[in-house]
Amino acid sequence: MRIARIRVWQLDLPMTEPYRMAGGRVLVDGLDSTLVAVDTDDGVTGWGEGCPWGHAYLPAHGAGIRAALGTLAPAVLGLNPMELDRLNAVMDLTLPGHPAAKSPLDIACWDILGQGAGQPLHRLLGGWDGAAIPINSSIPTGTPAEMIARIEAKRAQGYRVHSAKIGGVDNALNIARIEAIEAALAPGELVTFDINRAWTPSQAIAVMGAVQTRAWFEQPCEGLDQCAQVRARTTQPILLDESLQTLGDHLEAWRHRICEGAKIKPNRLGGLTRARQARDLCLAFGWPMHVEDLGGTSLADTAAIHLAASTPPDFRLASWLGQAHIASDPILGAPVRPSDGVTTPPDAPGLGAWPDLDRLGQPAAVYS
Ligand code: MG
Repeated sequence: MRIARIRVWQLDLPMTEPYRMAGGRVLVDGLDSTLVAVDTDDGVTGWGEGCPWGHAYLPAHGAGIRAALGTLAPAVLGLNPMELDRLNAVMDLTLPGHPAAKSPLDIACWDILGQGAGQPLHRLLGGWDGAAIPINSSIPTGTPAEMIARIEAKRAQGYRVHSAKIGGVDNALNIARIEAIEAALAPGELVTFDINRAWTPSQAIAVMGAVQTRAWFEQPCEGLDQCAQVRARTTQPILLDESLQTLGDHLEAWRHRICEGAKIKPNRLGGLTRARQARDLCLAFGWPMHVEDLGGTSLADTAAIHLAASTPPDFRLASWLGQAHIASDPILGAPVRPSDGVTTPPDAPGLGAWPDLDRLGQPAAVYS
């Protein structure tokens, strides 16, 4: 089996409402998604999606994914799509870095592997115990009252885990947000306070030192060194997200004891191959994880949930579904959907989801 053709579509994904994070400094008001079909010489098609969460969240850019695919796609034509490590080695030699562009190609080849094996991806990625995967809400930065109102609305939909986006220079406002949200949680509910890099170390140390909560704090500052300063001077558990872009970043965070948990995101890491490697490193470190993706349609969600499902439940914190934030979702098959605060991966061979071609229009590029 060989890769005979690669088709690339650009898709603007309007959001249900503009989303503010990092204390308000990052605004996401639309997503630029790239859907990739890998076609084999014996008639199998695998699908993948690359969709940054806007262009200010990570060093990943929607148009940049398609530009990089112009270099990557010709290099992988003719390869066996089931040889995932070889595919990734060729991509890394062809274009170092650029994980967001490699991710949709890698995921599409996992889809082909699963279809060829007649097995769902969660089985090939390690095996699923059958338990539903808890999903978490994503609460944009706002006043304490606004954020609590959103948590209450998500509670009514069944969500029991919340990710509250805080940050910014006003320490008193951040302390007020944390204390008010903690007090408003229902019994059994959990919250993570996600700063999205928007504190200096001194702000993080001041705010985390002033509150009683034992909740997770996520990506308090820019980069591993700044987060290490916070780790040394605070007591709450710390998750890292944006700082973990390579396997080396995970090793450095572990070696310097910077965090106790991690976010695993295929599009941030370069696809399911790298995300599975990072997941297995985190298991060895004893870090619980949120396994999810950067955003996009339910196709990206479905790939990530296959990996979440195959992560041992004691290490599985919760997963976010980006589809909750987009106004329409052109995905067919059996993509993951939220249901009373949980979701389950499809059991069909491969990814189990694909786009409605009638809604994609003409490809932006075809490589063959
Ligand atoms: Mg985060």
